Amino acid sequence: PTLRADPLPEDAAADTRALRPQHLENFIGQAEARANLSVFIQSARQRGEAMDHTLFHGPPGLGKTTLAQIMARELGVNFRMTSGPVLAKAGDLAAILTNLEARDVLFIDEIHRLNPVVEEVLYPALEDFELDLVIGEGPAARTVRIELQPFTLVGATTRLGLLTTPLRDRFGIPTRLQFYTVDELHEIVTRNARLMGVPADPDGAREIARRARGTPRIAGRLLRRVVDFAVVEGDGRISRELADSSLTRLGVDHLGLDGADRRYLNMIGEGYQGGPVGIETMSAALSESRDALEEVIEPYLLQQTLIQRTPRGRMLTQRAWQHLGLTPPRAAGR
Ligand code: ADP
Repeated sequence: PTLRADPLPEDAAADTRALRPQHLENFIGQAEARANLSVFIQSARQRGEAMDHTLFHGPPGLGKTTLAQIMARELGVNFRMTSGPVLAKAGDLAAILTNLEARDVLFIDEIHRLNPVVEEVLYPALEDFELDLVIGEGPAARTVRIELQPFTLVGATTRLGLLTTPLRDRFGIPTRLQFYTVDELHEIVTRNARLMGVPADPDGAREIARRARGTPRIAGRLLRRVVDFAVVEGDGRISRELADSSLTRLGVDHLGLDGADRRYLNMIGEGYQGGPVGIETMSAALSESRDALEEVIEPYLLQQTLIQRTPRGRMLTQRAWQHLGLTPPRAAGR
């Protein structure tokens, strides 16, 4: 298996890699998760034991990978990273587990996409730090038990509901990450702009923060584009006007919705008279995978009360009609 030692896509440039917070104390937001983790990390250190297995769940880009890396650093152990879909065979996982040193952090991204055969191998590893491997085939096959070093599994998922119950139950520290407030994103944007050497006016940083869909990854991406406009067409500063005009040119509206979000809302509004419309129908109509709709698009629209999930499907709210500038049809029973 290829362990992902290479940088994550958005961190491809060395200068943006430096923006990733390295310690719990300069990780902004997620106050509750941070406070709890800090206690559990300190306790594991004092007892000299591996920290309990931890599961981060929540929409993409909220800091799950970043927190896992911070945990390893604060625990003073190695960080190994892989992902559910990469671990195709039991042997792939076994190779990684047997190479871990005592108390290491193993991060498995998209853990809801683990192959069931691989997941079976993981259970005794999590519970007793043991591996049961079948060697050979047919009548000659036999099982060997391998002792592992105690380690900490950090799982990340955007879809808690897709995790099997036995896997979920093996995480002692399940942690839900929340969308960030505008104030928290403001702080992140200001810090990153400073690190990039392009100062942001408080109003400029706030404009980016307001339009970042509650998500640090999006805030980072928007900031980098606004910096491009500031350097090439502006005076090298991020003012509110520059941020506003840059984001508008990028198709990001005042609520932070982009083209894909508006296409989704318009499809329900104009294509299906405001709904309810089922997720499979939406997926076909938009040529987007159901997963992408449920993991990436819908969580923020739900949080912003632009859509509502009902047993019969998705519906637009009054707020969405207003935002789209459309008039809801006056259907009976609505
Ligand atoms: P996830 O694993 O949840 O998809 P990541 O940990 O990869 O999210 O974070 C996405 C991006 O956002 C990274 O570039 C990271 O540096 C940045 N980021 C996430 N959380 C924070 C935070 N609290 N403060 C500053 N930057 C953050």
